[in-house]
Amino acid sequence: MLLLASHLSGSWSSGSGSRSQLVNPATEEVLAEVSMGGHDLAGAFKYAREVGGNELAGMSFAQRGALLGALAKAIHGAREELIALAVANGGNTRGDAKFDIDGGAVTLSHYADLGAKLGGGQLLADGEPIQVGRTARMGGQHVWARRRGVAVHINAFNFPAWGTCEKLACSLLAGMPVITKPATATALVAHRLAQLFEPLLPKGVLQTLIGPAGSLLDNLAAGDVVAFTGGSSTAKTLRTHAKILEHGVRLNIEADSLNAAILGPDIELSSEAGQLFLVDVVRDMTQKTGQKCTAIRRVLVPDARFTEVIDAIKDRLSTIQIGDPSREEVRMGPVATAAQRDDVKAGIARLAAATDSVYGGTGEITPVGVPAGKGYFIGPVVRSTKDPMGCEPLNAHEVFGPVSTVATYSGDAAFAAAFVARGEGCLVSSAYSDDRDWVASFVTAAAPWAGRLYLGSSKMASQSPGPGTVLPSLLHGGPGRAGGGEELGGERGLSLYMQRCALEGDASVLKSLLG
Ligand code: NAP
Repeated sequence: MLLLASHLSGSWSSGSGSRSQLVNPATEEVLAEVSMGGHDLAGAFKYAREVGGNELAGMSFAQRGALLGALAKAIHGAREELIALAVANGGNTRGDAKFDIDGGAVTLSHYADLGAKLGGGQLLADGEPIQVGRTARMGGQHVWARRRGVAVHINAFNFPAWGTCEKLACSLLAGMPVITKPATATALVAHRLAQLFEPLLPKGVLQTLIGPAGSLLDNLAAGDVVAFTGGSSTAKTLRTHAKILEHGVRLNIEADSLNAAILGPDIELSSEAGQLFLVDVVRDMTQKTGQKCTAIRRVLVPDARFTEVIDAIKDRLSTIQIGDPSREEVRMGPVATAAQRDDVKAGIARLAAATDSVYGGTGEITPVGVPAGKGYFIGPVVRSTKDPMGCEPLNAHEVFGPVSTVATYSGDAAFAAAFVARGEGCLVSSAYSDDRDWVASFVTAAAPWAGRLYLGSSKMASQSPGPGTVLPSLLHGGPGRAGGGEELGGERGLSLYMQRCALEGDASVLKSLLG
């Protein structure tokens, strides 16, 4: 049996102690094992600080960007192999796997280009020079400087490639060495990435821990950063971790999100914007079997359109083949783990107690191409409610699977924004309207509750990647329930890994520092 090794302190080690199994979630076949511990994590931190940190300190943004470009190329070179691993270990269809893996490569390339643009310096300007003295000779300038600690990246099971790459791109370009930890259950892809990246990077710049975190965070010190993606209960334990509190370690959290999609009152379902809305809702239910942090969980439609919308969603869902994702005709695979399946089932039961059934019952299906009784399958489930604000399970629990609830409203923009807010903070929400006044009222009121607002309309419909696609040039993260974190957003993504410092002095000296 393949035993996955971690890459720590410059060498590969398989750890020791009991083992956890990585399986194919469609067939339950065991693919590999991971040791539950036995790694020298204190040594890994020391290695990152002393070796990796020094390597990056000697490099310009352009040089670090070049490293990221090489990593993107390595992904392209091994694309088919990575896709096969994601299909086997993640329950991904080929399309799902490409979304994760190509997304990782695109993000690395974006930051490689940004590195080339930022060029040869070590400091980044934050805003324009400011006159703080009586004359222009006495100036002020905010700058970003490389943080001297270690960036610890903890990722969720659903995006083993993209999650690894998006965090890595920002850290390395900012100049911080990384210890990355993928979720154990789907670690095959991240493990292969670690193998591909290792010969392309200076020593100590990237270390990969495969398996549980164990005592990883006990080694944190001043100047370190933790970037976490995962569930809110794990996030809670991180927020109160003794070392994070003791050293004021910067902690970025990407957690649960009850993303909403709202159909504006002016949109006919047959119009371009109406069709975009339908495509986005159904794609988010089925792509990666609904296991996307950005997936639409709550749908709000004008009362008059309710029947038309649910009929159209039902039609589209009924054409989707569910089964072994390695088969060409299959468009939706299983969820990633048995625990995930049980969580989704519990979520459906919670919703069922407060909503009406529209499609898919409780998610029972007979998947194609799978041995009887095997696999962690759940079919798409649509529920409905006429009480969008009062429906507690809809607004307070993320069901991380192919499940969505359609609710109705009058078409009022303020109500639509209040519905977004009812989720208490989301990564993204979308509204579909060609009425600019409606959009302006909605955006102003909804923006404080969302990391990103996606504005669907007839003008952009033909170019839209959908709300579920995270772009490296735009912020990813969200307030409240979504964790309060921010990642990506072009140059903004570097700030997590850099320290902002206000410089005050001779204006010409300040100018020369920035080159
Ligand atoms: P999870 O159980 O919270 O695990 C996330 C990561 O945390 C895994 O790598 C896990 O390692 C690690 N972990 C668990 N306990 C830990 C501890 N005490 N200390 C340090 N690390 C620890 O979440 P998940 O089931 O993988 O992911 C599903 C959740 O992630 C969903 O709720 C979803 O909303 C959220 N998510 C959010 C985003 C976003 O960008 N906002 C993206 C994707 C997913 P092991 O795997 O080894 O246990």
